Amino acid sequence: MNLILLGPPGAGKGTQAVLLQKKYGLCHLSTGEMLRETVAAGGEIGKELQSIISAGKLVPDEIIVKMLQERVRQADCAAGFILDGFPRNESQAHALDEMLAREEKSLDYVIEFRVSDEEMIERISGRYACAQCKEGYHDIYKKPKIEGVCDVCGGAEFVRRADDRPETVRKRLESYHEQTAPLLPYYKERGVLRSVDGMADIDTVTGQINAIFGA
Ligand code: AMP
Repeated sequence: MNLILLGPPGAGKGTQAVLLQKKYGLCHLSTGEMLRETVAAGGEIGKELQSIISAGKLVPDEIIVKMLQERVRQADCAAGFILDGFPRNESQAHALDEMLAREEKSLDYVIEFRVSDEEMIERISGRYACAQCKEGYHDIYKKPKIEGVCDVCGGAEFVRRADDRPETVRKRLESYHEQTAPLLPYYKERGVLRSVDGMADIDTVTGQINAIFGA
C-alpha cells in the first residue's frame, strides 16, 4: 500500500505515519526528516539547506526528488510507503507520478488532515523531541512522565526544531496554502483523496485512517 499524508505543518502527519509504519510494515518517508539528517551531517550542502529550512521556504524540487527516488528503492519500502511532507507542489506531484510509473507502483490513498491554522501555530511552537530516540513531546499536550527524562529511552537531552518558531511556522503555513493545498483537487479527480479530522485526538485520527483502509 502506498500513501500520501497531506496537511499543513503540525497536523499530525508524522505521528500517524509512525503508527502506520508499525501496523502495516510500510516505510515512512519524511522529506523534512531526510533534510534534517543532511543538515546534521554538516558540509556546504547542509548549510545551504539549513538556511532555506529556517526561512520556512521550500528546498528546490530536484534535490527532494532525487533524495526520494533513492529511498523508495530500498528494501524496507517493498511493502509500500507513506509519504509525509511530499509532494509539496504541482511539479513534485508530477515528478511523483513519473517515479511511480518507472517503479511500476501506484498510489492507493492520499489522506488529507483537516485542521485550523491558529491551532497549528500553538501545536508547533510547543513541540520538542528526545535528542536520542526522537520521541515527540509537547509543552502542554504531552509532557514526559518524569520531567526531563524521555519516557521511551530514558534520555535527558531534548531538541526543538529551528523552524518551529511562530514567525517561520506562519511562512510554512502560507506555503502550504499557496503551493500544497492546490494538489487536493488533483487527487480528488483521481479518486484517491480521503480526509480525516486532524483536530481530533491521536487515537481518533488513527481510527479514521483505519476506517479508510476498511481495517
Ligand atoms: P517538514 O518536516 O515536512 O515540516 O519540513 C520541514 C522543512 O523542510 C520545510 O519547511 C521545507 O523547508 C523543507 N521540506 C520538506 N519537505 C519538502 C519538500 N517536499 N519540498 C521542499 N521542501 C521541503
